[in-house]
Amino acid sequence: MNEVERLENRSKKEIYCNCCGKPIIKTTLKGVTMDYLHIEKEWGYFSNKDLTRQKFNVCERCFDKWISTFEIPVEESLVEDIYVYTDEEMEILSAAYKASGEI
Ligand SMILES: [Zn+2]
Repeated sequence: MNEVERLENRSKKEIYCNCCGKPIIKTTLKGVTMDYLHIEKEWGYFSNKDLTRQKFNVCERCFDKWISTFEIPVEESLVEDIYVYTDEEMEILSAAYKASGEI
């Protein structure tokens, strides 16, 4: 399958990483996917992209590669008010990450 066919065969319902082209894996939990970065940007006047909206997704693996190229490290802090999954939800999410080779 060449690159054009591969791109055409991508489902509109799936979420793909724009860097590596791999699908962001959904779990059996409704609406829960492996974590990824989604960016939407509307460029303003005098930028080289006047009035253009861009959006893309980046999987965690590609995100880590990308930020490792930054001159200034990404600022990190602990998130304390995050949704707490049940044990069953944690197992499903963990299985999705294992299946993807991320852990
Ligand atoms: Zn990726």
